[in-house]
Amino acid sequence: LNLYEDFEIEHIVKLVREKEVRVLQLQFPEGLKRYGPQVAKRIKDDVNISVLLSGNPCYGACDLDRETAADLLVHFGHAEIPELAARGVYFAEVRSDVDVMPIVDDALALISGRRIGIVTNVQHVHTLNAVRRRLESEGLTCSIGVGDQRVKYKGQVLGCNFSCARAVDVDEYIYIGNGTFHALGVALATGKKVIAADPFLRKISVPDVESILKQRYGLIAKAMAASTFCVLIGTKAGQQRFNLATELAEEAAARGYNAFTVTINDVTPWTLYNFAADAYVNTACPRIAIDDASLFKAPLLTPTEFEMVLGKRDLNAYALDEFSSC
Ligand code: SF4
Repeated sequence: LNLYEDFEIEHIVKLVREKEVRVLQLQFPEGLKRYGPQVAKRIKDDVNISVLLSGNPCYGACDLDRETAADLLVHFGHAEIPELAARGVYFAEVRSDVDVMPIVDDALALISGRRIGIVTNVQHVHTLNAVRRRLESEGLTCSIGVGDQRVKYKGQVLGCNFSCARAVDVDEYIYIGNGTFHALGVALATGKKVIAADPFLRKISVPDVESILKQRYGLIAKAMAASTFCVLIGTKAGQQRFNLATELAEEAAARGYNAFTVTINDVTPWTLYNFAADAYVNTACPRIAIDDASLFKAPLLTPTEFEMVLGKRDLNAYALDEFSSC
């Protein structure tokens, strides 16, 4: 196993014994799936039970893949989403022990404001107080926001929820974590500068909000010429927005468009292949439209983008689509 990752195997074995689990299911996000067989073997070495690995795609704690025969599901790599109140699930968060201080020191060179908001993903939430102390030792004022019921920890952001960022009044943000998607989300959600500090690659960057907005407005413009819209309702536990989807489809129909609604588990070009439409509106995971835009031949819009197409939202008031419990 990777030295930086803790799969809590001893704790899981303890839970299996305590709860007298006979069938255990393990669910890993894509980035950790390759460890699945090893983790399953490590558990089976200690307890003689059936261990099943979920082979379905997984990108968040919104998506709990329970096989009905399983007594317990262990979901790795994400913190639970409090508002979902999932039962029969243990969340092994797989915190990282990578040292974030070198990248925080590097990021100091890019910080230009005095009041800094600190945000991260669950892998590094335990480092935030140390990051705050480090930045405050440089004379900066730091805030770590408390989010809504979609997030478990102070300062934690999800691809669909930036409530911890919005909760603080700051000049700019530092995001600790890999990749730039979350940092880009914070920038779009707050309109402020965000420094993405990746401790794994030891790389700092400022997400290019302009190029994403250019891409999004290009797709919105293309969708304005559409006559048939397909509105998608996610069936994953934490992605269901039935009312929003039906309202959007009804509003489209009232404006003279053809609109139909599809329930769907995974939003991909392949699963949509037989539902021909000029444009799609995705009320499931908001990050698919942005992360996977290039995969889809027709525009895949977020609900807020579709509101622009319908004329319900000012074209200058771009807003990121979020799942929010407030
Ligand atoms: S809806 Fe998307 S961004 Fe939100 S937790 Fe699920 S996978 Fe992540």
